[in-house]
Formats: sequence, C-alpha cells, structure tokens
Amino acid sequence: MKTGRLAGLGIAAALIGSLAVGTATAQEQQFISVGTGGVTGVYYPVGGAICRLMNQTRRDHGIRCSVESTGGSVFNVNAIKGGDLEFGVVQSDVQYNAYNGEANFAETGKHEKLRSVFSLHPEPLTVVARSDSGITDFDSLRSKRVNIGNPGSGQRALMDLLIAEKGWTNSDFALAAELAPAEQSSALCDNNIDAFAYTVGHPAGAIQEATTTCDSIIVPVEGEVVDKLVEENPYYFKAVIPGGMYRGTDEDVNTFGVGATVVTSADVSDEVVYQFVKAVFDDFEAFKGLHPALANLTPEEMVSQGNSAPMHPGAEKYYKEKGWLQ
Ligand code: GLU
Repeated sequence: MKTGRLAGLGIAAALIGSLAVGTATAQEQQFISVGTGGVTGVYYPVGGAICRLMNQTRRDHGIRCSVESTGGSVFNVNAIKGGDLEFGVVQSDVQYNAYNGEANFAETGKHEKLRSVFSLHPEPLTVVARSDSGITDFDSLRSKRVNIGNPGSGQRALMDLLIAEKGWTNSDFALAAELAPAEQSSALCDNNIDAFAYTVGHPAGAIQEATTTCDSIIVPVEGEVVDKLVEENPYYFKAVIPGGMYRGTDEDVNTFGVGATVVTSADVSDEVVYQFVKAVFDDFEAFKGLHPALANLTPEEMVSQGNSAPMHPGAEKYYKEKGWLQ
C-alpha cells in the first residue's frame, strides 16, 4: 500500500479542485491496484468497472483505484502475497488452492493471509477450435496444436490439471502453446494453432474476436474426468455456453467451469476493503450495467458463494450492515 502526503507541482495542481472544497482526505491519498487478466478477457473490464465506481466517490474516502492487466489468477494471488497488488480477480479454484496450499501452490505453501471479498460471474472452460481442424470435443485436442495458456493464468492451471487427469502430457499435443489471451485469437485465425482453451465469463471480447475473424466453433468439455472433478470439488460446476452467443456456435455447449472471485490480503486495512465493497454495492445497478457478464449477479450470492478463504473483516462489516451476513 502506497500511502503518502502528495507533493510536487503537477499533483498539487491536480488536487486544487478537491482542496478548494476543503475535503479532509484531499492531502492524504491512498492508492490501490486491482490485478485482472488480459485486456480482451472479462476480468480487465470488470476491474475497470470497480475502479470507476471507487474513483467516482474518491472525495469521500481518498482512495485512488487503478486497474492492471496481468497474466491472470495465479499471477494475481502471488502478487497479492508479495504486496505488489492490494486486490485481484481470481478463479474460485485458484483461491481455494492458494489458501490451502494445494495443487500448483503445494510447493509455495499456504497463502494464509489471502482473504475473500466477493464472488463474480461464472467462467466456463471455453475451448475454441478452427472449423477445419476436425476437433469436435476435448478428447480430440490430443495430437493437435493447442494453446494451453500462459503460465500464471487460471486456464493454464485448469488445463494442467485436466491434462494430468486424462493421463496425457504436453507432448501428446503436436504443439502445446503458452500464449496469453490477447494473442490467441490471431494465432488461431493465422492457423498457427488449431484450438485454445480459456476460462472466461461470457460474452468475452476474446471469444467474439476469434469467432468473428475466422470460422471457428466452441466444443464441449464433458465425460468421466469432468464428472469426477465436479463431484469432488465444490468450486467446479457444470456449465453451458449459450447457443447463438457467438458466430458459428448455434447450439448450447456443455462444459464445466469455475467462478470468478475478488480477493485481497489480511494486510490491507479494513477501511480500504470496506470502501471497496461499498463502492460496488452502493451503486450495484450501475456496476452490473458496466459489463454483460455481470448482468445476473445478486449481492447475496456474491457474498455466500465461491469464497473459500476467510472473508476480509472490512467486507464483513459492510455485509453485516446490509444483513447479507449474520
Ligand atoms: N480466468 C482467467 C484467469 O484466471 C482470466 C479470465 C479473464 O481475464 O476474464 O487467468
């Protein structure tokens, strides 16, 4: 957390407006950063929506919020642990595994200071394949050129798990590419890969880009391994990508997925987290209107579902005031 008395002519000049109205907080500003994902995903515009609401009421609380494009979920929890980010959007499975020191966090150990803030939209595992690739489902990805995701992303963590559960290794693919989300649509349409896997909310800019730029389809991810993962882990659930949402995919597609969640650290103050959730929920209709993936959210579900790390006390205070938590 960077807190400080602002000095310097440029910043002083920028603050004259608020100093003139005599707010107590104008001189003492706090800065928070929200880690998201690639700019064509959903995390980035959603993080932007949160910061926009926070910055609208900055005169009341003195906190300046900025959104950062990052490598995704795993990067975000690690950056929060290192104190480089105050908040991050992360997949519910990544939140669970980071807090409990499981799966890809087994080596680094438990992230005991990780705290829940609220959950967001569902993120189905979305496999997009070139129409001419012959790929019709997850199993037919084997021996193809597949983007399994950049290290640090939630989709990479999920693909690593699925590949292991299937008894495959990366050498089962003709190519296991590690492209970031912003690069995968052009790689698909330039015929450098046959398919990519992306855990993302819908509608997503990245999926629109891929399906409108070249002939491509969304294929199902189902079967025994998926059934087992969903049965054994509370943070996985069956999901459907609605037919007609993207060009080339007119029927509903069965897959499974996770939930997006917002997390922070126990080291971030109660006041900052309280103001963060207050900005979102005091103007909730505006928040939901800022991205179509947020349209079906309800405050009660955001507080009660998908949050496996302990709730941050600053968030808890606001939810208790609202009666959403006992
Ligand atoms: N679920 C992805 C991840 O954890 C990010 C999706 C998005 O940016 O909307 O890396």
